[in-house]
Amino acid sequence: MGSTKERAEAQDQNQDLQTEWDAVSSRLRAEVGETAFQSWLRPMRVRECRDGTVQISVPTRFMRDWATAHYEDRLTELWRGENAEVSAVEIVVQADIGAPAENAAPKKEAEAPATAANGRSSDGLCAPLDERFTFDQFVVGKPNEFAYAAARRVGEAASVPFNPLFLYGGVGLGKTHLMHAIAWHVRTATPERTVLYLSAEKFMYRFIRALREQNTVDFKEQFRSVDVLMIDDVQFIAGKDSTQEEFFHTFNALVDQGRQIVISSDKSPSDLEGMEERLVSRLNCGLVADIHATTYELRLGILQSKAQKLGAVVPTKVLEFLAHKITSNVRELEGALNRVVAHAQLVGRDISLETTQEVLHDLLRANDRRVTIEEIQKQVASHFNIRVSDMHSARRARSVARPRQVAMYLAKQLTSRSLPEIGRKFGGRDHTTVMHAVRKVDELREHDSGFNEDVELLRRMLEG
Ligand code: ADP
Ligand code: MG
Repeated sequence: MGSTKERAEAQDQNQDLQTEWDAVSSRLRAEVGETAFQSWLRPMRVRECRDGTVQISVPTRFMRDWATAHYEDRLTELWRGENAEVSAVEIVVQADIGAPAENAAPKKEAEAPATAANGRSSDGLCAPLDERFTFDQFVVGKPNEFAYAAARRVGEAASVPFNPLFLYGGVGLGKTHLMHAIAWHVRTATPERTVLYLSAEKFMYRFIRALREQNTVDFKEQFRSVDVLMIDDVQFIAGKDSTQEEFFHTFNALVDQGRQIVISSDKSPSDLEGMEERLVSRLNCGLVADIHATTYELRLGILQSKAQKLGAVVPTKVLEFLAHKITSNVRELEGALNRVVAHAQLVGRDISLETTQEVLHDLLRANDRRVTIEEIQKQVASHFNIRVSDMHSARRARSVARPRQVAMYLAKQLTSRSLPEIGRKFGGRDHTTVMHAVRKVDELREHDSGFNEDVELLRRMLEG
């Protein structure tokens, strides 16, 4: 740390920067309107100004790319108007912006490390916590209710209910979210308790550095004085023997002192290869809670909650479509929704099923259930008793034209192919022909219940 004078100067500078930012952002707010402001500008935080470049941080990479493309130039211009010494504005990612809404701190405090409250040496080690990862932002469903209950219990308990809490599950299913939520909760409810959250990777890195600098006494001291220790992605230290050894000792020391340990991993303790037997048995001693793959209901619930938080109007049909199509994990689901909402805001149009399919073209293809256009053509042809070749032919008789339209419609619904691509597969037809087919079938489905049932039956068969 610098001298008192240096610190006072730095504080003044921060104050100026903040005042300039307030002016700049309120100008831009007037220019871009309220919706865009809430989505893109509100989450921004000024970090610093160095050599004429102002750094502004946003919480995600996606936001950075977007904001850079759309607002950076204007921000620079406006900032220059406030302070002629500023020559550029740079937008960067910082995942740990601010404090969670429930104990919203003034912006400036968020930049100081959270040490102020309890000032113990271990706080500098703690990895940043994501402000969105709180209990109240976690959507609970069958696949995660047990892990959620266990995490809440640990967060709220005055004494240690089980040690360790071992959370495991696949990528993007909410392990880190639950860990941060525990940390936020402990910090808010009992600020006198120290919480140390970090990845196993960082734990190892610190340990190796301490070894190199012959500083292991301090290292041990830092870890062994915390009340709650959380190590994320512990699978990382499997096979890393000396790190495991140190971790094992830290672990035992903390457990002996009645301190809480929370661990996450992508595998259960017993499935962690390259983990020492005695560590595995220690890990198995507490409560092991797994997070299962998401269900359709949970995905829909998460989408509803996130859409509401984004303040976006997303038709139920679109949410259902996403919940149905993007089954890999919550991170991807969230990303998809963000893209759809951002796109709608950019072009100033309402969100529809069609724009969703267009915007998520690449993503949907990856998540496709691999129904091919050829299968659709075959299935539809046999259902209506026509030849498959008629799907490509130029014949326009209603008896073949209608089934062809149905096949085009289903191709649009069930695959992530674009209209021109679909057109090509139907004897090189134009994309407007496909568009017309989609509209026609939609219209017929509404007015002709027999026809509607036919299409529905075909769809179900194809989705299998
Ligand atoms: P993991 O650590 O298991 O790989 P994360 O905790 O990083 O996964 O979760 C990935 C993303 O999905 C995060 O943005 C997180 O907020 C979100 N997420 C996961 N599960 C839920 C849930 N049940 N409710 C709300 N958001 C969730
Ligand atoms: Mg994680």
